[in-house]
Amino acid sequence: MSDSGTPDRRIWIDGRLVPWADATVHVLSHSHSRGSLVFDYLSVHETPRGPAIFRLPEHVQRFLRSVALVGLPLARDEAELCTASVETVAANPGANALKICAYLPSVEVDVVPLDDHVAVAIAAYDYLHDVILRKSQRPPPRPELKLHIERTRKRIEAHLPPQAKAAANYLGPMMAKWRARQRGFDEVVMVDEAGFVAEGPTTNVFAVDDQGVLRTPPAGSILEGITRGSVLELAKHAGIPAREESMRPEALQGAAEVFLTGTSAGVWPVASIDGKAVGDGKPGPITTRLRERFEAVSGGHDADFDHWLTVVRAPGSGD
Ligand code: PMP
Repeated sequence: MSDSGTPDRRIWIDGRLVPWADATVHVLSHSHSRGSLVFDYLSVHETPRGPAIFRLPEHVQRFLRSVALVGLPLARDEAELCTASVETVAANPGANALKICAYLPSVEVDVVPLDDHVAVAIAAYDYLHDVILRKSQRPPPRPELKLHIERTRKRIEAHLPPQAKAAANYLGPMMAKWRARQRGFDEVVMVDEAGFVAEGPTTNVFAVDDQGVLRTPPAGSILEGITRGSVLELAKHAGIPAREESMRPEALQGAAEVFLTGTSAGVWPVASIDGKAVGDGKPGPITTRLRERFEAVSGGHDADFDHWLTVVRAPGSGD
């Protein structure tokens, strides 16, 4: 912490590392008032080879796809953004989270901005110490996940594609999750416009049937999570049959095992859905196997998937 009580970190903004407290935008900025900010969120792990970013190129490619879907005129390419991300992690030791944002900082009155300069901010930080513990004294417990299926509010996928990680895409899920929290649930998954299970606000969903087959909703009405893709690859590698297939909420409720995946969530077992236990309410064998493998891979303890990690060398480390 610095003297001012803000995290002692520096955020990369348009090519310069600026102190955390100075990384601000105007309250009337376009991004703030219209939800036009686009972002991606990555994890950083301590590995035997040093701090490493999990699947950096894949995240940056997804970020650029989101930028293109929203139509922001961003003048930076994948190589530049990867280099800047590595530089930012190196400048912020102990970081476990990395967020890349593209936004319109200009104060605007119209929905289409007169000044269309797209700024880029890249922040590497410790989400627990720099963010959560500054607001509450204790880290939140990892609950036995009580899930609610939100069936009534469907997103309008034609307007804002779920593949765009844009701030505005999170408003509906935020409302659904907030309501569910007030009713004692920890998390929600939403259905798509056709009533099939889609995804959580920041997670993808998987089910395992009694034959041991893994299922997850197909790409169309979800954000294609990097963790989801990784888990599908790990399942294939481990010989676990997996299908990308639409499922009704009832199929999710009747599954032998259910888990969520995401950069923050990792592989997160679901204990109950709308009050009914999933299996015996404990993490099932396939969930446990995939979770352990995923943790080994992201922690740099699995040579088969070392290529998923971008190792960051501290400035001046000599190599
Ligand atoms: N769906 C949505 C809508 C999300 O915001 C996220 C989090 N990025 C996910 C799924 C999971 O994606 P990932 O595994 O890449 O974090």
